[in-house]
Amino acid sequence: MDFKIGCHLSSAGGYLAMGQTAESIGANVFQFFTRNPRGGAAKPIDRADVKAFLAYAAEKGIGPILAHAPYTLNAAGAEDRVREFAESTMRDDLKRLELTPGALYNFHPGSHVGQGAEIGIALISGMLNRILAPELKTSVLLETMAGKGSEVGRNFEELRKIVDAVELGDRVGVCLDTCHVWDGGYDIVDDLDGVIREFDAILGLSRLKAIHLNDSMNARSARKDRHACIGRGKIGKEALARVINHPRLRDLPFYLETPNDLDGYRAEIALLKSLRSDA
Ligand code: FE
Ligand code: FE
Ligand code: ZN
Repeated sequence: MDFKIGCHLSSAGGYLAMGQTAESIGANVFQFFTRNPRGGAAKPIDRADVKAFLAYAAEKGIGPILAHAPYTLNAAGAEDRVREFAESTMRDDLKRLELTPGALYNFHPGSHVGQGAEIGIALISGMLNRILAPELKTSVLLETMAGKGSEVGRNFEELRKIVDAVELGDRVGVCLDTCHVWDGGYDIVDDLDGVIREFDAILGLSRLKAIHLNDSMNARSARKDRHACIGRGKIGKEALARVINHPRLRDLPFYLETPNDLDGYRAEIALLKSLRSDA
């Protein structure tokens, strides 16, 4: 199978522009924010742009695309208006994504803001139960979190509890962020096999649909969540090379969210391609 590698791109120019940008930097997948990452209304969908993108993506072999919900989306918030924003935003994002069938939709489970993880988990799964429908053409993914503040999803067990409380839990996937799991305490440097075994035992590897490939500025278990460029952080190039080559992970799509401009991403994608064992 082809190496699926790409990065986060600006959605300002629309879908076709993202596809063309991806192609120009050697990427065959990409991630984008569904709207301003700090929230607010989404731009109206340009159907002609979507149609042109779908044709382009099919021709160039681009995808799956990964839509990232805004950071401000907090299904576990304590205030009604925070949870209502989360729910209406996700509902609207998923409606728009029906135009690009087979997309992935990643969101941060939320922060319980002092209510406790159990309440946070109930609020998140409650929202998913009201939104998910069997006919959805998009896979909804929970992102593994670093555990800063009161983040829910700081370990595999918390994600499992969310999944278990969702009626359509079989359809809920996971996006593993290498920086977040490292900052959250998982030793992907010296025990990648053990971490993958643990993921499989708790969540099931069939649920893992995407990897956010990031180095980390911080030491393991720092619970900080600060991304570094590949090879410039505490995880390091060798450990990340083992991630992209691991037999249980290598067929997944990898999305860089490293602090880079487009030239930086182009160079990082080239580096990762050179680190693939079939390169
Ligand atoms: Fe994220
Ligand atoms: Fe991430
Ligand atoms: Zn992060």
